[in-house]
Amino acid sequence: MGSKYGVIVCPKCGMARGVETAKKTTGCQCGNEIVLSHVKIKNQTDSPLELADLVASTNAALRGGEPAPPERKSRKKDPYLSIAERAKPIKDSLERMRSIAQGLTELQSRFTIDDIRRIASLLGKDSAEDVLARLKDHNLVYEFEPGVYRSV
Ligand SMILES: [Zn+2]
Repeated sequence: MGSKYGVIVCPKCGMARGVETAKKTTGCQCGNEIVLSHVKIKNQTDSPLELADLVASTNAALRGGEPAPPERKSRKKDPYLSIAERAKPIKDSLERMRSIAQGLTELQSRFTIDDIRRIASLLGKDSAEDVLARLKDHNLVYEFEPGVYRSV
């Protein structure tokens, strides 16, 4: 005993929360006024930072032992969409096509007309056949296997 902080579980809503052990009562966000002498104070610590972790892990344990799922905000963007977005503002059509070819080459080191088709459909400007024909005309792509290209 003697630690400054501890974790309690609200008897009303079942959520863990951090408390200062010196206090006699604490208000829970559910509206319940918890009398600390009536609940078990566990996971005591002197560190407020550690207290936050303990509250989080206690809540996770109460939910069924699984740690809280990480935020899925950083989900990877569709790489084709990224390439299309990068190419879109390029005014010069040949430069735009070259940007597509470079993006695809960076992405997967090679590409086919199907890959271009996916970008072209996102851009809605040129057909995949036109893109590939112009890139070939200007020697901006290199066909190293039949139907398989990389940017030069
Ligand atoms: Zn509560």
